[in-house]
Amino acid sequence: MSDRYAVIGNPVSHSKSPLIHVAFARQTGQDIRYDRLLAPLDGFEDTVRRFFHEGGHGLNVTLPFKREAWDLVDSLDEKALEAEAVNTIKMVNAQLVGYNTDGVGLVTDLERNLEFPIANKRVLLMGAGGAAHGVMHFLLERRPYSLLVANRTTDKAMRMVSHFINKSKHLGVTDISARPYGELTGLQFDLVINATSASLDGAMPLLPDGLFAPGALAYDMMYGRETAFLEFARAQGAACADGLGMLVEQAAESFRIWRGVRPLTAPVIAQLRGDA
Ligand code: NDP
Repeated sequence: MSDRYAVIGNPVSHSKSPLIHVAFARQTGQDIRYDRLLAPLDGFEDTVRRFFHEGGHGLNVTLPFKREAWDLVDSLDEKALEAEAVNTIKMVNAQLVGYNTDGVGLVTDLERNLEFPIANKRVLLMGAGGAAHGVMHFLLERRPYSLLVANRTTDKAMRMVSHFINKSKHLGVTDISARPYGELTGLQFDLVINATSASLDGAMPLLPDGLFAPGALAYDMMYGRETAFLEFARAQGAACADGLGMLVEQAAESFRIWRGVRPLTAPVIAQLRGDA
């Protein structure tokens, strides 16, 4: 019987993860089955435990459960420990081990696929949920000139920045801060990343005109549709990218953790974009 994997979330029906992992498995000759698993909002732990009890091998975790997954697993990889969010679970010797591959996914997509180096850029990260936590370390590691976090609930952005302040000093990134959306007027950024789930509802945080510096890139982690944020950014003259590349890159890292082999991502990105 094929080894069983799944993506767990709520909602989850939009997820392209099954397509991606099936493509990886075909490419690398691995025998796996990969499903979508809808967990009730108050039933994440039960759903996870049932999946592994019934012989599951690994899970991807999507919104809104990344923090709950962090609390649930028996042990954590170093990056997931720091991120306080888990997007990949692997069963090892009857123990659940948690990982976070979102950061690798984002940075690989930005720097390798989109050829947009982060070093010395003024970066605005919107959101302070599981995805934002997962990418903080990796963004800081690329040594941006500055990193500003904005979130609807400002306290959460402030807590997230405090959590990473020592890491940022250690990496030599001295300009890291949090602000409400209402206090962005007059600031300019080279890279604006939307890590909010507002796009799922066709919404976006309220942003001022003039936010994008010349040559700036607007990156929406949401994928598969033109979002209100990308529409706004395009009208403001920014280059735009959606999160499909990140999705495939983070999936490749999960696949490597589970199966010990890293698949090629370019053909799968092309396939999902309908270019292959
Ligand atoms: P969470 O539920 O953990 O966090 C949601 C975040 O969005 C919070 O910061 C929340 O703010 C904010 N938010 C929600 N609605 C609004 C709104 N109307 N206006 C402003 N802010 C809002 O979700 P995740 O962090 O896990 O996921 C965030 C997004 O990133 C999702 O769209 C997800 O699909 C995408 N994603 C894509 C990946 C990829 O590989 N491409 C990987 C991971 C995530 P508050 O704190 O105030 O509630």
